[in-house]
Amino acid sequence: MLSPYANKLDSVAKQRYVVKIGCVDADPYAICRSECKSVLDCESNELPDVEYPDIYHYLINTPGGFSGQCMKAYKSLDAYNYFISGWVRELLVSVKGSKFVILSKVLHSQRLSEPPLQVWVICEKDGCVVCGHCNCMAGLGETCSHVAATLFAIDSVVKMKKDTSCTSLPNTWLAPSNSRAANVVPSPASEMDFSNARKRCQVVGSETRAVKRCPEVASATEGEKESFYKGLHASGVNSVILSAIPGYTEHFEKSANATLPAPLTELYSSEHANLSFAALIDKSRETFVRLSVTPDEATAIEKETKSQAANRHWFRQRAGRITASKLKAATRTDPANQSQSLIKS
Ligand SMILES: [Zn+2]
Repeated sequence: MLSPYANKLDSVAKQRYVVKIGCVDADPYAICRSECKSVLDCESNELPDVEYPDIYHYLINTPGGFSGQCMKAYKSLDAYNYFISGWVRELLVSVKGSKFVILSKVLHSQRLSEPPLQVWVICEKDGCVVCGHCNCMAGLGETCSHVAATLFAIDSVVKMKKDTSCTSLPNTWLAPSNSRAANVVPSPASEMDFSNARKRCQVVGSETRAVKRCPEVASATEGEKESFYKGLHASGVNSVILSAIPGYTEHFEKSANATLPAPLTELYSSEHANLSFAALIDKSRETFVRLSVTPDEATAIEKETKSQAANRHWFRQRAGRITASKLKAATRTDPANQSQSLIKS
């Protein structure tokens, strides 16, 4: 059944219109929206593979319906700007047999406030553009800029759908054959051949190279180890291994560490966990009175923690302290029911 638009065409134009839509046996303008799907919601296999060569071929080389000569609509190739400017709206697709009917609305190039033009294009699955139509003044020519812009839009969507990142698809980049995968057996690194392909080519045909094995080395005795550590320490280089060897770790503590006060976290005692609130307050007062920081210790803290988060003492020394940014919250919280988030922060 023809759409009201088609019925209003003059006899010649209507005859041509009927011929064009004959391949889908339906007037695209009369296709119900429920039979269409938004192109953006389609998978790439649900869309015709329209590419630039297909668009070029349709606009330039396809014989016109009226003249029978190539349409050579070079001007329509400029319609890419229409698409880039976002004038193509509501790109829909409807499948009719083996054909894809693309429907779109394209804004007027000069009169944006007017209702958009209605375009349809019929394509094959392989991207071949069969015909197109637009209800603009030049639409009967089948190659107006609105038809071209619609084709560029569908080309772009198809390209976008196909260019999905390989990591968004099932693994296809590491697909060794089953036989090859089955032949891979674990080996010691010493027996692996790390030579490059060119090197391997050179040895093909020659005698099999003897696999280089690491010489057997007896484990060091405790005495040898101690002698090694002593020598290492005597060299004056702070080798990192000594930081984990008892007897040498203290040499890695910075000299200022001796003058730093014990961090507040060391005041914790599991014995106090069962004390009543009142007893805990008493205990806190006693501890507070005993707490003292000498000028030397204060200077040492200031010196050691200048680099803040880059220094581990900064974390140790600030743990349990009420820093300036927390002071207000600390003075507002109920001592009998302290804010848990404040304590943990
Ligand atoms: Zn048009």
